[in-house]
Amino acid sequence: MMKKGRVFSGARPTGRQHLGNYLGAIRNYVALQDEYDCVYCVVDLHALTSLQETKALRVNTREMVLDWLAAGMDPEKSIIFVQSHVPQVTELHIILSMVTPMGWLTRLPTFKEKVRQQPDNVNYGLLGYAVLMAADITLYKADIVPVGEDQAPHLEFTREIVRRFNYHFGKVLVEPQIKLTEFPRVLGIDGVNKMSKTLNNHIEIASSPEEIRERVMRMVTDPQRRYRTDPGRPEVCNLFTLHGFFSPEQEKEIEAACRTAQIGCVECKAILAKNIAQAFAPFRERREALAAKPETVGDILADGAARARVIAEATLAEVKEAVALP
Ligand code: ADP
Repeated sequence: MMKKGRVFSGARPTGRQHLGNYLGAIRNYVALQDEYDCVYCVVDLHALTSLQETKALRVNTREMVLDWLAAGMDPEKSIIFVQSHVPQVTELHIILSMVTPMGWLTRLPTFKEKVRQQPDNVNYGLLGYAVLMAADITLYKADIVPVGEDQAPHLEFTREIVRRFNYHFGKVLVEPQIKLTEFPRVLGIDGVNKMSKTLNNHIEIASSPEEIRERVMRMVTDPQRRYRTDPGRPEVCNLFTLHGFFSPEQEKEIEAACRTAQIGCVECKAILAKNIAQAFAPFRERREALAAKPETVGDILADGAARARVIAEATLAEVKEAVALP
């Protein structure tokens, strides 16, 4: 079948994936595989911006890729590889950095957030994060980039870099489009912040039913509902948003029962925990089978790197030609 174009996405090796990663990104990674030529990357170099993460890079890469595979990312259909195994991206990064105005980088909300998070380690790599991401995307000439909403400024930045590069050197790079899921920003169990490992407000998709239940029970619900007899407001409740995905058949009933205080939050949480655990039961089984074969992940990543390198070398050659490097 003729593919519609190329998809690229990357994620830092953060280990076991959470519901935010899954609903915001991985679902699209899987869904796009049949229609597009997909390239998915473990961006390990990006993870070096925070030095604490480096100790666990290898374990976290394996854990993340096991989640990806169990969720349905298929190495027969897609290229799955590790960023540093295809070092051409670092060359493109340097070339793109020359068309990147400093002000664009310091103004990025993601950079400002990192500066707040790690004020004693505001390194050059952190500033260049978006340039490296632009290099990832453009090296593979991606048309579509499936990511969560938090990545939208980076995508816009990439598009601007592409326009600037192409203006100076000719139409070599491709301007990518962002692709969001219907859950582009999943909130954490605190009900306020984006679900994230850093904030420890997450629910891992590989968790056991007991672990899922334990986390769901801690979820913050409608703050105005103080007593069991108070009517709830599903529209402000994060729990209800997740019911929308995990409890589609019960959604209407739960909404009505919440508004009329026929069910309380504890009961509502028990239903959600059960449905999440059930939804990921086949996933957990596949993951266990994959984890039992220790060489699988390494083999897939080696094969992915070899396939990715072919595309990377071709683009980099074109870029060097366009820039007229001697
Ligand atoms: P990275 O730093 O590479 O974005 P993350 O683990 O933070 O690594 O995210 C991986 C992917 O999951 C990204 O596409 C990101 O936008 C998406 N994502 C992460 N957290 C959430 C969330 N809470 N809601 C929706 N999407 C999310």
